[in-house]
Amino acid sequence: MLEYSQRIKSLPPYLFAQIDKKKREKLVQGVDIIDLGVGDPDIPTPKPIVEAMKRAVEKPEHHRYPSYEGMFSFRQAVADWYKRRFGVELDPEKEVVALIGSKEGIAHFPLAFVNPGDVVLCPDPAYPVYKIGTLFAGGEPYLMPLREENGFLPDFRSVPEEVLRRAKIIWVNYPNNPTSATASKEFYEELIAWARERNIIVASDLAYSEMYFGEEKPMSILQIDGAKEIAIEFHSFSKTFNMTGWRIGMAVGNADIVAGLGKVKTNVDSGQFQAIQEAAITALSLPEDEVQKIRDVYRNRREAMVSALRGIGLEVYSSDATFYLWVKVPKGYTSADFVAKLLDECSIVCTPGNGFGEYGEGYFRISLTVPTERLLEAAERIRKLKL
Ligand SMILES: *Cc1c(COP(=O)(O)O)cnc(C)c1O
Repeated sequence: MLEYSQRIKSLPPYLFAQIDKKKREKLVQGVDIIDLGVGDPDIPTPKPIVEAMKRAVEKPEHHRYPSYEGMFSFRQAVADWYKRRFGVELDPEKEVVALIGSKEGIAHFPLAFVNPGDVVLCPDPAYPVYKIGTLFAGGEPYLMPLREENGFLPDFRSVPEEVLRRAKIIWVNYPNNPTSATASKEFYEELIAWARERNIIVASDLAYSEMYFGEEKPMSILQIDGAKEIAIEFHSFSKTFNMTGWRIGMAVGNADIVAGLGKVKTNVDSGQFQAIQEAAITALSLPEDEVQKIRDVYRNRREAMVSALRGIGLEVYSSDATFYLWVKVPKGYTSADFVAKLLDECSIVCTPGNGFGEYGEGYFRISLTVPTERLLEAAERIRKLKL
């Protein structure tokens, strides 16, 4: 009998098997399902990016192995974008590395710094890859609960000293998936000061930096004084430019930390197709109104759905970022019960909060990745439940 490795066996159980099965059955029966489960944009990639890709594919120099760390022109474009968007200076040679999607970088990163027995501080609820990358590296995830009363920010000061002695990395992700919460400058300042004192790497996942709808734009952690001593930031083209299928992202920050990730990657992959990197350069230099158009779509959907859900008595967390709504399950239900009810009785797919970790219990997540009229149809179906 073949046996899986300990690291595969250590993976948390897949919570969505039941939902997936029911969803497939309904689809076969021809039921009109509204899928608000996955965080995958329904809007196509902007035309100029697709056109740049077409041109780049024709060039034979892109048909060979790419450079491991990414084309210099790509890294330069990333540095220029960071300067323009955040006012952060980056050395494209040493402080930027291309990723095959940010998930790839996030999953591999602990391999560079975590030894068996070391601890990685992971928020909960969260994007699952922080925890899984830690387990694959033989590390121990230590969960930091994100609670509504703290604005879904981790209370890193309450992590016990004996845990901190073994801690190598702390993950943060704002604007946040799944809660949609955002972080303030003060939060980042305290975090950086705390991490520098203890020599703990701050790994910031900034996948949703451009998905904002308020006056204040989300910041990069590298805007904080001293952050470059201790921080790395992961970034993705997926959400900003509707490019989830393209698999391109980047990590930027402290040169030694970036180099550590680079060492891992050199040994497991051979970089991303250069034509994709060229298309990504076009994405980073897209006129602001192209990105604003994408933002406006999500803003309109958010406003419509938040008011529809509140109108039927559901509690939606107030936020002006991300394309997620983080909603409390009504009294008397667990996250799993309520999400099952939505699927059974309304043919709506949502993600139960506990799918993002135990502290997500009591909530469910809605992705605003379907048109407004479908969102409103979903709200109407929920209203008929008379909760
Ligand atoms: C979508 C997402 C990612 C992954 O982005 P890719 O670049 O497509 O791999 C990373 N972090 C968070 C929080 C996400 O929601």
